[in-house]
This record gives sequence, structure tokens and C-alpha cells, in this order.
Amino acid sequence: MAKPPKRILQNCPLCNQPNEIFMQGLVRSLYSGTVQQCEDRGYSFCNCRNIFYTDWKNINIFNFKERFRNRLPKEIVETETSNAIDLVKSIFPDVESFYDVFKIDKKVRDTAKNKGMKVDKLKTYDLLYASYYFNRVENIPRELKKCHAKLNQNKYMYISMPNTKYIDFDRDNSIDFDWYVSENYTLWNLDDFTELLEENKFKVIESKNGLAKYKTENKEWVWRKDFQLIAQKV
Ligand SMILES: [Zn+2]
Repeated sequence: MAKPPKRILQNCPLCNQPNEIFMQGLVRSLYSGTVQQCEDRGYSFCNCRNIFYTDWKNINIFNFKERFRNRLPKEIVETETSNAIDLVKSIFPDVESFYDVFKIDKKVRDTAKNKGMKVDKLKTYDLLYASYYFNRVENIPRELKKCHAKLNQNKYMYISMPNTKYIDFDRDNSIDFDWYVSENYTLWNLDDFTELLEENKFKVIESKNGLAKYKTENKEWVWRKDFQLIAQKV
């Protein structure tokens, strides 16, 4: 792990406490795909929620939307969406309508539709799908409120996110963790995110720390160091 070059403080988005940059971030060129370590931008840690966070000024929504819009391999998107729907339906078979919170890849909605879910414009839904979404928004409590309003009474939200439980500081994390300062605002572990959900009128009914694995078109396995959970609106 490289040493941060100078002392830079960033305020925690949850409690506003200033903390030093603890981990240099990465940037990936949109055009060449080259990954570089940032000299002066990175992640701080705050123990109010045990989150890693960067400055919102570092977030470049355009950059990550361009990078991810409809570009993830079909098999990954279909597998992840299908698995989530199957998991929720195995516990709650009465789930009929589906809403993709992130809306960055239309394959998500198509997959849900192919699985017989209603995906047309409704006021409220039975299942909200939030894959790698909450790590990218500025104000999580505000987003949770919006999601709460979009759900039918007692219905469900599926969430998956990068999981800081898997950070290994004995090795160079740039290899396998999401330290992209333009893309991830906060990074969480399952327990603290569960607590936050429960403070925001959701009850976590199923959760898993998981090394999710997906096959790509090149027949290679992609590993995601994430967590998955199902939260119920209460
Ligand atoms: Zn904090």
C-alpha cells in the first residue's frame, strides 16, 4: 500500500467528522481503460459506520455511467438479476412487479420481464432491485426514503454492494477492490449497512456476505467481493 503524499481531510458523509485520506484512490481512463493511482484523492475511514468514503467532488457520474451503461456482459447482468428474483421469489412467491433502482442497464429490466415480472410504469412495486447503487449516491438516507415510498406495503428491496469485509491490507488492494474515486462514494460492510437500513424503516430478512461469481462471455469467472440482502419495508 502506497503512502498518501500529504495530509488531506475529508468529512464523513454520515456524521460529518473530518478524517484523513487513508487509502489512495484509483482512476480509470474512459478511453484507454488505463488504471492509475490518484496522487491526491482517495478514501478516508470513519468509525461511525465503519465506512470508507471519498469526497463527493471526486465522483464523476458521467464517467461511470459511460463505463457501465449497457456494457456489462449479458451473462453477468442476466445471472445476477435472475438470481436475485429467484431468491426473493423462493421466500415470497407473491412478488409480481419489479423496479430497477439504478436504471443503468436495460438488460436488468429485460431479464425481469422475461421472468414474468411486471416492469411497466407503476406507482409502487413488490420488488426493488438495487445492485451496486447505494455505494454511488450522495445521500443514502434520502435514497432509502425514496425507495421506501416506491414499495408496496411490506414488500422487498434486494441490495448488493461491494463488501469492505474483504479488504486485505496485506496486499495491494488496487488489484481487486473498488477504489475508483470517480465511482464509489461510500463503501460498506454488511452489519453496518443492515443497521442503517433498520434505522430507515426497513427490516433485513435475509443477508449474505458473499464472493459472488459470474461467468462472462469469455468463459472466465468474475468474482465480486460483495454482500447481498433482502430488506422488507416496515
Ligand atoms: Zn462518520
